[in-house]
Amino acid sequence: MQVHKYDVVIVGAGGAGMRAAIESGQRAHTAVLTKLYPTRSHTGAAQGGMCAALANVEEDNWEWHTFDTVKGGDYLVDQDAAEVMAKEAIDAVLDLEKMGLPFNRTPEGKIDQRRFGGHTRDHGKAPVRRACYAADRTGHMILQTLYQNCVKHNVEFYNEYYVLDLLMVEEDAVREDGTPYKQKRAAGVVSYDLASGEIHVFQAKSIVFASGGVGKVFKTTSNAHTLTGDGMGIAFRRGLPLEDMEFVQFHPTGLAGLGILLSEAARGEGGILRNADGERFMERYAPTIKDLAPRDIVARSMALEVREGRGCGPNKDYVLLDLTHLEPAHIDAKLPDITEFARTYLGVEPYTEPVPVFPTAHYAMGGIPTNIKGEVLQDNDTVVPGLYAAGEVACVSVHGSNRLGTNSLLDINVFGKRSGIYAAEYAKTTDFVELPENAEAYTIDMIETVRTADGTERVAQIRKELQDTMDANVQVFRDERSLTEALNVIASLRERYKNISVQDKGKRFNLDLLEAVELGFLLDMAQVMTVAALHRKESRGGHFREDFPERDDENFMLHSMSYLDPEAVTDQTAGIRMDTKPVVFTRYEPMVRKY
Ligand SMILES: Cc1cc2nc3c(=O)[nH]c(=O)nc-3n(C[C@H](O)[C@H](O)[C@H](O)COP(=O)(O)OP(=O)(O)OC[C@H]3O[C@@H](n4cnc5c(N)ncnc54)[C@H](O)[C@@H]3O)c2cc1C
Repeated sequence: MQVHKYDVVIVGAGGAGMRAAIESGQRAHTAVLTKLYPTRSHTGAAQGGMCAALANVEEDNWEWHTFDTVKGGDYLVDQDAAEVMAKEAIDAVLDLEKMGLPFNRTPEGKIDQRRFGGHTRDHGKAPVRRACYAADRTGHMILQTLYQNCVKHNVEFYNEYYVLDLLMVEEDAVREDGTPYKQKRAAGVVSYDLASGEIHVFQAKSIVFASGGVGKVFKTTSNAHTLTGDGMGIAFRRGLPLEDMEFVQFHPTGLAGLGILLSEAARGEGGILRNADGERFMERYAPTIKDLAPRDIVARSMALEVREGRGCGPNKDYVLLDLTHLEPAHIDAKLPDITEFARTYLGVEPYTEPVPVFPTAHYAMGGIPTNIKGEVLQDNDTVVPGLYAAGEVACVSVHGSNRLGTNSLLDINVFGKRSGIYAAEYAKTTDFVELPENAEAYTIDMIETVRTADGTERVAQIRKELQDTMDANVQVFRDERSLTEALNVIASLRERYKNISVQDKGKRFNLDLLEAVELGFLLDMAQVMTVAALHRKESRGGHFREDFPERDDENFMLHSMSYLDPEAVTDQTAGIRMDTKPVVFTRYEPMVRKY
């Protein structure tokens, strides 16, 4: 085992991690640990854009952007955080431009902007052009630009290091009201080096989790294979809460049957959804902004069309994304990659044929709770000194119960930057915390248990059954019966997980072993999502309960907080204690959400 010491350790080299590293690297001795080579992170797959009220093409301002974000999130957004994000969006785009990102331009040479779902002029009057973009490769450009700038600032990368545990110490502390409590404090992380199979402990004054999402709990998903919720799982296992985990975004336009994403930019550029009758059905569900309604509404409308028999194809199980009225030259200039996906994966020519699409699991609105500095909360009132989180792994709650398109690339830049600055500044004020004794023991035990396991169950089979049950029971529509069914299946899969075996018993590049470890995180996170979904007996944003189809502000205008608690053992809790946290309101009162 080797021990390294850094002022700041960042877990993850996607957009959030590298944006944090650029700030931290200029202020403190910083290392980035990442299970993927940095430019392979999922941020690189982002297509459509990153929004900011630059008003380059049309009148716009950050207040309208804040309103859209709050309304889009069905009022579960912490409004102070949304204000920060919308205000700082403008600098976030300009920062990237100065770092060298090649945005698409207007004929006058300004950064061009296009439409995206839920982004409107003057509080919902009409769609507005707010998304800055680089064709349909915006995330690729962001990731490359950030990586080059990390290299410029001499950030040290540990590539293909899997972080598997978070080290914290507990200290006696006193709350403002005088009550004593045990405060957790960050001390380091434990990681596994893929190339050698060795354990490396990183001692750090500040730690930033930026390890991305958890889309792989579902079968039909736009997410990369690596998005297994490790960061959320690590924090949860160490007793930290997870916030709003019931809220998963299903993106309307996944390629039917595959889930591969076709960016909402296709509709931003004029694409239209049609049912089997050729009807533009979104006119019925969102008369003002139609196909550019927020994703939860569009995804639900599509699922309803299919359910009511107006789906297309031999099984009537998808709808069509129609781009055929757009000029091929326009398609080539603005949507080159995604139209190529339609040709490659479905054999459909988007110039002349509509593309079969259906909702695909896309984004986790929930995650590790933080405040607007990126500091992680250990409960509603107190932070964990030295611990930060940003990006999809985190929940600063700018997305509430439904994220607007292009707000995530924005979130990772704004809150990545903030957490990098605050983590480095905190590191300057404090000493290293002593590592707990046998800091690596828990991780070694976990790895060795899996490596030496000789059971009869296969990792791939358990993962498949998990994804199948999540697709069947925890999707766009949910109810008590389906969620209970999912919970029972997950419980039996967790039992079977104890009886797995991995074939590769070696030390070097043992991906077999790591897939088994990742499956452990997936099982934990699927359970948290399902329990949280069972407890939210209302419908809001991405969470639609058929048995409670209305939003219920009186009882549920609250964030949910899930804690690991072996004593919570009813058949609806599965060892998870549910708590709530108030939503932060500044200027917007909840209204009925119409588009
Ligand atoms: C196909 C697709 C298209 C999208 N398009 C858009 C868009 O146009 N606009 C928009 O706003 N949003 C979009 N999104 C969402 C957005 O891209 C993501 O939410 C965002 O990029 C997440 O960034 P991140 O830095 O938090 O995580 P990621 O980019 O996923 O990076 C996670 C990092 O964590 C590391 N990591 C994970 N686990 C571990 C571990 N155990 N140990 C060490 N390292 C670890 C990985 O190596 C990786 O470097 C899209 C998402 C997808 C999937």
